[in-house]
Amino acid sequence: MTDAIVVGSGPNGLAGAVVLARAGLRVTVLEAVDEIGGGTRTSELTVPGVLHDHCSAVHPLGVGSPFLRTLDLARHGLEWCWPEIDLAHPLDRGRAAVLVRSVPATAAGLGRDGPAWEKLFGPFAAGFDALAEDILQPVVHLPKHPMLLARFGLAALAPASLLARRWESDEARALFGGMAAHAFRPLTSPTSASVGLALGASAHRFGWPVAKGGSRAITDALAAELTSLGGRIETGHRVTSLREVEAADVVLLDLSPTAVAELAGDRLPQRVRRAYRRYRYGPAAFKLDLAVAGGVPWTNDACRRAGTVHVGGTIEQITAAERDVAAGRMPPRPFVLVAQQYLADPSRSAGDVHPIWAYAHVPHAYPGDATEAILGQLERFAPGVRDRIVGQAVRTPAQTEAYNANFIGGDISTGANDPRQLLLRPRAAIDPYRTGIPGVYLCSAATPPGGGVHGMNGSNAAHSALKWLG
Ligand SMILES: Cc1cc2nc3c(=O)[nH]c(=O)nc-3n(C[C@H](O)[C@H](O)[C@H](O)COP(=O)(O)OP(=O)(O)OC[C@H]3O[C@@H](n4cnc5c(N)ncnc54)[C@H](O)[C@@H]3O)c2cc1C
Repeated sequence: MTDAIVVGSGPNGLAGAVVLARAGLRVTVLEAVDEIGGGTRTSELTVPGVLHDHCSAVHPLGVGSPFLRTLDLARHGLEWCWPEIDLAHPLDRGRAAVLVRSVPATAAGLGRDGPAWEKLFGPFAAGFDALAEDILQPVVHLPKHPMLLARFGLAALAPASLLARRWESDEARALFGGMAAHAFRPLTSPTSASVGLALGASAHRFGWPVAKGGSRAITDALAAELTSLGGRIETGHRVTSLREVEAADVVLLDLSPTAVAELAGDRLPQRVRRAYRRYRYGPAAFKLDLAVAGGVPWTNDACRRAGTVHVGGTIEQITAAERDVAAGRMPPRPFVLVAQQYLADPSRSAGDVHPIWAYAHVPHAYPGDATEAILGQLERFAPGVRDRIVGQAVRTPAQTEAYNANFIGGDISTGANDPRQLLLRPRAAIDPYRTGIPGVYLCSAATPPGGGVHGMNGSNAAHSALKWLG
């Protein structure tokens, strides 16, 4: 029987493991820490009974993942839950932009900018299933839907700030800018529109759901699928050298390129080792989890009903904050992402005390404390929120890296999303999953299609390995 070892039990490691086990391989997953799941763990971090997602929270690309959709994860307990409003973006003086799954309903809320919103997102939302088959692959591939991909690619190559010029109102421009800022890139840089377009299109196709009981339900379901196929998972097993695993016929590494360069040393072809060592990491997330009695008192009512709230003000203000972060300066008013998962999944709350998930974009490896800056941004749009906080937990960039070795310097995307690495990560290669060591593949978020909980990197890497096995 052919043996496979997967190092790391993040969503990509487990996705790759499932693909290999389905193909009949005997699969063992080795996870460094005592709990599986990488960036999808959930637990009580503040007060008893209140469930917080440690990392990932909202999953448009999870529910829409071409790979995850091939599995019946519902039989292993995975249930997606949608909030009434997918995304709200507050502005000063009580205004807010609102995104819901329906393109026409979203457009209607954007007034005179509605038709331009509908014109841009309508075709991508309608064709999202086809589009996902192409954009969640390495850039070098034979497109299945070339016309749609070309249309998307043309818009995606633009700076977000340029694409946003098609709208006049602060609302529409900020709504798009907030989604584009997920890339942790200055909104004036080329290709910075891409992530905003993909997240917007996925929102209009699938909404922005959360997993019932917490994001850990996603990897728990993947692990159950793997076990049902005969696979094994060993936790508390940190792999420190490739020698520990290279007897297996296939090895998938759900790791950063930096870690692979360390583990594999001179077993890697020189050009690959050099590329892995030069691989760049992006800005960091400063995480703040709050337990809030009665929820956040947003001035704007739509924000009280939204699963995700982008806190950063106008697109100009977000652009300035992201520019500072990319330049290594802590902005006074950082871009803050807030999730209120309990609105879709009330099982996360304890009575009237609700979990609020937030993180700010801060410079790579930022050593300071961003708590006050985050609370200041929340107070700006929800005066009085501080008085309702009954518990809080902070995770700095250094603690984020200690928590998960893949998040170097607090970079939660396992690699900067600059134009080069957005298109060609972790290095320029026809098959970016190959490490150059026969049978050894990289499958983490450092490979295409990048960060997020969708399992596509793991699935693509496993298919590449199966092709090699013949
Ligand atoms: C604060 C935060 C918010 C986020 N929000 C979202 C979100 O809302 N939606 C979304 O889709 N994504 C989000 N993400 C990103 C998402 O979590 C990651 O992109 C995703 O988890 C990447 O999956 P992965 O399998 O590549 O790696 P990871 O999930 O990072 O898993 C890697 C695993 O490998 C293990 N490991 C590392 N080194 C070794 C070793 N030497 N030996 C054995 N095991 C090892 C680690 O312990 C870890 O379990 C967020 C991340 C963070 C941190």
